[in-house]
Amino acid sequence: MMRLPPFEYRAPVSVADAVKLMGDHGPDAMLVAGGTDLYPNMKRRQFEPKVLVGLRGIKGLVGIRGSAATGLFIGSGTTLTVTAAHAEVAAHYPALATAAGLVSTPQLRNMGTLGGNVCVDTRCNYYNQSYQWRKAVDFCMKKDGDICLVAPGSPRCWAVSSSDTAPVLWSMGATVTLSGPGGERRIPIAGLYQDDGIVYLSKRPDEVLTEIALPPAADLRSAYLKLRRRGSFDFPVLGVAAALRMDGDVVREARIVLGAVASLPREAVDAGALLVGRRLTAELIDEAAGVASRPSKPLDNTDLTHPYRKKMTRVFVTRALRRLAGLPERADDGGAGA
Ligand SMILES: Cc1cc2nc3c(=O)[nH]c(=O)nc-3n(C[C@H](O)[C@H](O)[C@H](O)COP(=O)(O)OP(=O)(O)OC[C@H]3O[C@@H](n4cnc5c(N)ncnc54)[C@H](O)[C@@H]3O)c2cc1C
Ligand code: SF4
Repeated sequence: MMRLPPFEYRAPVSVADAVKLMGDHGPDAMLVAGGTDLYPNMKRRQFEPKVLVGLRGIKGLVGIRGSAATGLFIGSGTTLTVTAAHAEVAAHYPALATAAGLVSTPQLRNMGTLGGNVCVDTRCNYYNQSYQWRKAVDFCMKKDGDICLVAPGSPRCWAVSSSDTAPVLWSMGATVTLSGPGGERRIPIAGLYQDDGIVYLSKRPDEVLTEIALPPAADLRSAYLKLRRRGSFDFPVLGVAAALRMDGDVVREARIVLGAVASLPREAVDAGALLVGRRLTAELIDEAAGVASRPSKPLDNTDLTHPYRKKMTRVFVTRALRRLAGLPERADDGGAGA
């Protein structure tokens, strides 16, 4: 049995206290929300913080306010279960309800938070292993080693962004509020991520993500499709989020964001641009899906083969857009479930 290493647990009741504790302990400290990702990672010694600053006692981080008409504000400590079941989310931001409802298992969704999901660690077959396994292959640069075992000549880590909700929130144009020693700032969620498997977040380690804001849902249509081996609890090895704002049957705004194909969610910018100002026909969807699959460049470091994941990008974008167009999903477009 793998055991947690010793650590000190601090339980602030305000964001200001959490930020102060993070500052006091510097690189020795990490934030923990539901702990559903961090604790297993600590058992494998992927992280060895001496101090954990727990966010569960901060009441102000929990809950959903606002409305689809004015925009929704979701506290980072709101669980995935609550997010997925929330009536406004389910009715007006269905891709978010789908993504939150597809994360891991019911038990972990009851503990896991939306903020934790947005900040969840990147993954790689050579890294999400026990300490003994990693030691046997002489470790890798993400933790305890010097080289990348996927791309040995590479100066960087290519671990994969594996959050289900991040691509969805990006596609919807969500913003996040960060509280740090210098005060509070709000940034587009797209700016929270950077293309590095190790330092995958642009925020400072002592900044607490407090809130996720969704813009008003007028004319918004959204869909999320997830590829994984076991439908019961696997991480995504491909996620496709599509969000469109429509004027009747003409696309006014479009964002397609791919998950699990890079160290950050990757927006298929050209495919989105191709859709704008046009009617969402089957022919246009086919063309856009081809363009959307170009920035999908999965490596051989997660489950299922990378050529298959690349191929399924086009299939899933087609399915997502056909769903948003009200067209039937084609029966002959591949065998994987969403
Ligand atoms: C078996 C298993 C299957 C899983 N399957 C999936 C899956 O299918 N899809 C998926 O997306 N995830 C999956 N996960 C990962 C995890 O359960 C979820 O991502 C969950 O949402 C993490 O939320 P949490 O509150 O538990 O985060 P924690 O584990 O508490 O934290 C995760 C990371 O986020 C940071 N963090 C947490 N909250 C904040 C905050 N407010 N501000 C700043 N930083 C913060 C922590 O420091 C840590 O680095 C799985 C985990 C397991 C064990
Ligand atoms: S991509 Fe390379 S450095 Fe990063 S976790 Fe995998 S093997 Fe390690």
